[in-house]
Amino acid sequence: MDARSTTLLVIGGGPGGYVAAIRAAQLGIATTLVEGDKLGGTCLNVGCIPSKAMIHAAEQFEHACHCAQNSPLGIRVESPRIELAQTVRWKDGIVARLTGGVAALLKKNGVTVVNGWARVIDGKTVEVTTGAGPDALRIGCDHLLLAPGSQAVALPAMPFGGRVISSTEALAPEALPKRLVVVGAGYIGLELGTAYRKLGAEVAVVEALERVLPAYDDELAKPVAGSLRRLGVQLHLGCTVQGLSASGDGVRIRNAQGEESALPADQVLVAVGRRPRTDGFGLETLMLDMNGRAVRIDEQCRTSMRNVWAIGDVTGEPMLAHRAMAQGEMVAEVIAGRRRRFTPAAIPAVCFTDPELVVVGRTPPEAAQAGLDCLSAIFPFAANGRAMTLEAGDGFVRVVARRDNHLIVGWQAVGRGVSELSAVFSHSIEMGERLEDTAGTIHAHPTLGEAVQEAALRALGHALHV
Ligand code: FAD
Repeated sequence: MDARSTTLLVIGGGPGGYVAAIRAAQLGIATTLVEGDKLGGTCLNVGCIPSKAMIHAAEQFEHACHCAQNSPLGIRVESPRIELAQTVRWKDGIVARLTGGVAALLKKNGVTVVNGWARVIDGKTVEVTTGAGPDALRIGCDHLLLAPGSQAVALPAMPFGGRVISSTEALAPEALPKRLVVVGAGYIGLELGTAYRKLGAEVAVVEALERVLPAYDDELAKPVAGSLRRLGVQLHLGCTVQGLSASGDGVRIRNAQGEESALPADQVLVAVGRRPRTDGFGLETLMLDMNGRAVRIDEQCRTSMRNVWAIGDVTGEPMLAHRAMAQGEMVAEVIAGRRRRFTPAAIPAVCFTDPELVVVGRTPPEAAQAGLDCLSAIFPFAANGRAMTLEAGDGFVRVVARRDNHLIVGWQAVGRGVSELSAVFSHSIEMGERLEDTAGTIHAHPTLGEAVQEAALRALGHALHV
């Protein structure tokens, strides 16, 4: 058996693992990263980036179709059509550029990358099956960092295979299904369901709870539900999936009254959540403390075993790429002896639905639940000039602040392009802004950002433009 040793061994080359490896190497730590599939992980290969590429392509196509059907802007286009194979090639090109960039960064910083599947032997030893020969490679390390990510949850009544697909297959379509049933109205299901609808598929969404985006409050989810209906997406809320119909070309669903019906489907996208990847690579041998299915960590991403660390989706919610990256950067610094803790004031969450939705910090219901006496105010994009020029008058910005000292504890927004407001929202909360700070900051005109200032003004009781 081939044997090596390193100071830090990272399992997983997703946004958590590759960022940790780069930062550790920058700090002079001998680092080896083991990746069984492709560098960039879920995020770059089958998650954040390809989904946003497909969403953008679908949006562009829908705009062209909208123009063909009498755009109020006076733009006229004759019968647009989409060449899906070219769309997928374009998306793959972006993925290849980004994953190639990660490989180059790892190399430039002196990280040793091993392509193969790691198996944990103990807290200081990992075996890697590289496929390069019959023997596994054994790597000893002082520190073991677990960053193996997560995997899509399957429905027992309808396992993946055939026409039942996960987001991974949905991001590489060979042809557009005529009828797509999406199971799960969380952000992944709605982002992809909306894209498929805009590309021309008939889309039905089945959700067990009574509304779309159940992780968010009703006020935020409502504009998204309205837009889905306008796009012609059928919503079957409060319904559970029973399985494929006997002929295999439909999905049996049951509503809250117990009535069963079948939805015709050429493809079924199951998007009911993701779970930490903790099986199949010997993790159980470490007998780590767990938090449900996730690896339990402390504020420095330490597991219950000395010098075994964990970051990203394997540590549970919120399963987001930017959280994994932030943990990765921090854990590398802790291993290098720096004093760091992972205690962000807020972790932004964005749904790239139509309209987009962004949540940073506490929503009004969450603030109330935490026992905070808060005021909140909304500024509608219907009163924002820039939104009108973008045909984006739907939606709003909402601020939540403590009533006593006006400390801002939450920002939320729904609307076209609001994902870009996540930076200013996070910054505001991390820097401890009060309503007066935001209200007193000059925001450029005409921008969507003016709605941020106006929401703060409104919370203070003197909005100017509403
Ligand atoms: P991953 O990115 O999953 O990487 C883990 C890596 O470890 C994988 O490459 C895997 O092959 C490797 N690995 C696992 N086990 C082993 C082993 N034993 N040996 C070797 N290698 C191993 N998040 C956002 O913040 N914004 C978004 O817009 C967003 N959109 C998404 C859209 C979709 C469709 C999906 C599925 C996810 C999306 N996410 C989004 C979530 C985001 O992709 C994850 O939170 C993020 O990738 C987690 O990073 P990670 O490093 O923990 O794990």
